[in-house]
Amino acid sequence: MKIDLHTHTNCSDGKLGVRDLLDRAADRHISLLSITDHDTVAAYPELDSLEYGNTKIIPGIEFSTRWQSLGIHVVGLNIDLGNAELLSGIEFQSAARQERAEKIARRLQTRLNIDDPLPAVTGLAGNDNIGRPHFAQHLLNIGVADSMEEVFKKYLGPGKPGDIRETWASMDQVISWITGAGGIAVLAHPLKYKLTRTRLSSLLDDFMQAGGTAVEVINGQQKPQETDQLARICASRNLLASAGSDFHDPDNRWSDLGQFARLPASCIPVWQHWTGQES
Ligand code: AMP
Ligand code: MN
Ligand code: MN
Ligand code: MN
Repeated sequence: MKIDLHTHTNCSDGKLGVRDLLDRAADRHISLLSITDHDTVAAYPELDSLEYGNTKIIPGIEFSTRWQSLGIHVVGLNIDLGNAELLSGIEFQSAARQERAEKIARRLQTRLNIDDPLPAVTGLAGNDNIGRPHFAQHLLNIGVADSMEEVFKKYLGPGKPGDIRETWASMDQVISWITGAGGIAVLAHPLKYKLTRTRLSSLLDDFMQAGGTAVEVINGQQKPQETDQLARICASRNLLASAGSDFHDPDNRWSDLGQFARLPASCIPVWQHWTGQES
């Protein structure tokens, strides 16, 4: 059975609209799918139901959070989309995103000596929340850099002028929104933060203390050693394991829906109660 619990639509920084994403999921025979847009559940009102052909949909979101001055992503799965506190949390994050966009715009303007990028970036985002990929696209459009990789490396990635995390809600706060809405909080792509073992351990301690119960053991294409490391963490800490492609764009052939390795046998899948099957 094919499962994908981490995907994006154009409600955040994905390329496909909701319907196109679902058609692609059906094409790829995904039986369990979560749409986990950054800090928004705007995709969900576009669905008539949580079933689309043979695909069952688990309501989800990928929250941006702040932990010890780092930006940490927490995926919420199986959340109640009508939960008032969750919805007001999402409102908070939307305002945080706008405030962050204004700060990023000011920094880039000064650093690169360019016109205020905010109007163009706002246009690129359309009705959706502004994300760093919109800034990246604008910088490419005006010829400041030649590739997405270069833009993130020089201007938007970790430690660069466009990397601002202070506006986000704290990780603890976000986890309580998720669990308060009946959802499962999943620590997204734990190895992407490039933490030392000690620091990762401290992040996991705090994550669990706040009510987090799952780790994303698989995030798209990754090294088998990384999968093993995360599976061992789940086993030793009694955490559930999640898996997803982090799909954004059909042009990225290496990160298609459902295209990733199976969970190691030692893992207890986060979806065990949603499918009636173990893997
Ligand atoms: P934001 O949610 O505004 O912080 O933007 C983060 C998003 O930027 C991630 O979810 C990715 O989709 C994208 N991103 C991060 N790093 C890179 C990179 N090096 N190249 C292309 N896209 C990236
Ligand atoms: Mn993204
Ligand atoms: Mn992420
Ligand atoms: Mn993601």
